[in-house]
Amino acid sequence: MKSYAIATIPGDGIGKEVVPAGARVLQTLAHNSGRFRVELEEFGWGGDWYRAHGVMMPPDGLDALRGKDAILFGSAGDPRIPDHITLWGLRLKICQGFDQYANVRPTRILPGIHSPLKRCAAKDLDWVIVRENTEGEYAGVGGRAHQGHAIEVATDVSIMTRAGVQRILRFAFQLARSRPRKQLTVVTKSNAQRHAMVMWDEVALQVSNDFPDVRWDKELVDAMTARMVNRPTSIDTVVATNLHADILSDLAAALAGSLGLAPTGNIDPERRYPSMFEPIHGSAFDIMGKGLANPIGTFWSCVMLLEHLGETDAARTLMAAIESVTADRSLHTGDLGGTATTQQVTDAVIERIQRPAVARAAA
Ligand code: ATP
Repeated sequence: MKSYAIATIPGDGIGKEVVPAGARVLQTLAHNSGRFRVELEEFGWGGDWYRAHGVMMPPDGLDALRGKDAILFGSAGDPRIPDHITLWGLRLKICQGFDQYANVRPTRILPGIHSPLKRCAAKDLDWVIVRENTEGEYAGVGGRAHQGHAIEVATDVSIMTRAGVQRILRFAFQLARSRPRKQLTVVTKSNAQRHAMVMWDEVALQVSNDFPDVRWDKELVDAMTARMVNRPTSIDTVVATNLHADILSDLAAALAGSLGLAPTGNIDPERRYPSMFEPIHGSAFDIMGKGLANPIGTFWSCVMLLEHLGETDAARTLMAAIESVTADRSLHTGDLGGTATTQQVTDAVIERIQRPAVARAAA
């Protein structure tokens, strides 16, 4: 029987509630499949670790993760620690350390979920946003001088390498090709950013030559926000820089009904290192510890994790269970206007996974 080593990092806030729920779901799926096992190991890194040790994760933390098949991450963020420390000290350390250069964010309107887009039916919105995850605006290059003086200067320099742009565009074209519509929108801002974004456009054109079967277009990032709202059906797969896709994917999550539903994968397509899967929401300290967090974003991230491992049957079973649960309004959490708890939603997903396949198909 196959066995997968999976690291879980709950992190901060509601990450500590949704990741254990995800771990339960993965164990149930493995047990049910009878053909694979999951060996879960939890790492208690994040804000509490920082208070005890002065760092978000131990210096040799990446070595502890290196041999894993995948990572399930919760969130990093703590109101008592500056955001740039929580972000750079844990999540980005893992993404950059393991060269997880493709951040993949599927968006769909799940059954039973209302989109704030009035004229948008569920079938009208089925997107995947690919975000460059290791360089660009979040490369971490820059600095400050004359701190505290009137002449203080601060820079965040966006770094785009031809190799980095090529590999993310190639990944996006490949992903677009694997989807039924075979359609890609390359988001740019080359009208205003006239160096790196012009190279981005040039590379897009070059890479597109290897994908004659993929229909593609270019859209300025500002125009893209309007297109997502006004013409959602005109979009399928999208690729954008680190900053642009960060913003567009939060908009996408909101248009699909709630931040609490949206999943993401930080992927090393070459599989040299473990890839990391996580809900896109943050630590949400306002609801932490109350059992109110929506675990669906984490469960959907588990679907992506299973697909990445090649366990497509288990991934399909979990996605069907998720859709059956979101279709039942009595199982909606507060972010969706309901009163269900994390535990109730988790129990309902597990109950559906455990239903015999025939009953599941009919449900
Ligand atoms: P961070 O600073 O860690 O990025 P945040 O608390 O500022 O996180 P988010 O967690 O991204 O912001 O979400 C904003 C708000 O949306 C939260 O304060 C919370 O009320 C709500 N929310 C987010 N995720 C969920 C969820 N899974 N379930 C229920 N509500 C959620």
